[in-house]
Amino acid sequence: MIKRFILYLIRWQLSTPILWLVVRNLGVGIGSTVIANLVGGSIFFWVDKFIFTSKAVEMWHFQEKGRCDDCGKETSLWRLVLAPNYDKRQSEPKFFCMECSKRRTDELRSRGITIRGKSK
Ligand SMILES: [Zn+2]
Repeated sequence: MIKRFILYLIRWQLSTPILWLVVRNLGVGIGSTVIANLVGGSIFFWVDKFIFTSKAVEMWHFQEKGRCDDCGKETSLWRLVLAPNYDKRQSEPKFFCMECSKRRTDELRSRGITIRGKSK
């Protein structure tokens, strides 16, 4: 865990020389650039961590037009990618129309997976 945090900070530091070239002209020393990067890296690390581990996370993919993988209707399609205890990021993408998608989320809900619905 802490090792990942350090790696993350190092990754941020890689951008320091470039950033420094930019801010040098503004009269900022390399020291404060490093500090600014450490601060920025620290903040984003915890933000990222919060986003990826949060119980509230739900990710939907949306397709403006396509064919439903279930009923074959051509319409706007939805795909639930991520929800608590549900992760389809590595799976073959399957898109469904509004009705089929609703039926599926109801099914998942009955299996105890918390899905709030599409935020739109
Ligand atoms: Zn459908």
